Amino acid sequence: MSETPGNIVLHAADVFKNFGGLQALSDIDLQIEEGKTHAIIGPNGAGKSTLLNVIIGRIPPSSGAVVFDGTILTGKKPHEINQLGISRVFQTPEIFADLDVLQNVMAPAFARRDGAFKVNMFRSVAKEAEIRDEAEALLNDIGLYNHRESLAGVLSRGDKRRLELAMCLIQRPRLLLLDEPTAGMSRHDTNTTIELLKKIKMTGMTKVIIEHDMHVVFSLADKISVLAQGKIIATGLPEEIKDDPRVKMAYLGGIEE
Ligand code: ADP
Ligand code: MG
Repeated sequence: MSETPGNIVLHAADVFKNFGGLQALSDIDLQIEEGKTHAIIGPNGAGKSTLLNVIIGRIPPSSGAVVFDGTILTGKKPHEINQLGISRVFQTPEIFADLDVLQNVMAPAFARRDGAFKVNMFRSVAKEAEIRDEAEALLNDIGLYNHRESLAGVLSRGDKRRLELAMCLIQRPRLLLLDEPTAGMSRHDTNTTIELLKKIKMTGMTKVIIEHDMHVVFSLADKISVLAQGKIIATGLPEEIKDDPRVKMAYLGGIEE
């Protein structure tokens, strides 16, 4: 690599994952620079979601380790990793369907700031008001303010995904992982989400984004890694990746645009 790398905030080193006989991840070495948006692209079944699940502690790697800001994550539980400042938007939205939209955004703020899932009966009214203000501002940014009193379960799929993004952002993560954040969204909602993610980028938050939609990838990514059959076959700047023949080969046989 010719450029000087910045501070590496996350490093997945020598990561392998087998599911029975299937090698889902093989010899992964992924370094994420602080403040950057790093996209991971690749055909369906390439191992992208598995890699994110290994990072957040949902799936233990068969071997290898993930280090975040000097701390080894491997062996830690998902909520412990979340407490360290890593949040993830899932491929299938995970929201509280029976709570209203505003309550959904406020809940993770309490979890992050009071300790995971600890219900504090005596938490201060002032703190609750502060979190409410922040949640409302986020809902405004994300275009869901008018839905704040609706039950989350009745939102459209695209709106649920944006709600989940707000639920991550209120935790003020140092590293945000997004698994296909615009999947199931209309072009209009996709563009709103791109604008929001650009805004987040200006705050200096580090992001790893898995995305099929090349318009989204090339609008946001500072760096791109290409995963194919469990291996990273290329990492580089967007313009390098666009013209890489190995990447074109990996995509032959089709990928949804
Ligand atoms: P991607 O997100 O790139 O589409 P995945 O990480 O979901 O790919 O899957 C990579 C491969 O691992 C696929 O072949 C998938 O079927 C397999 N896989 C994923 N999760 C599991 C699991 N829990 N058990 C067995 N196989 C799995
Ligand atoms: Mg996936």
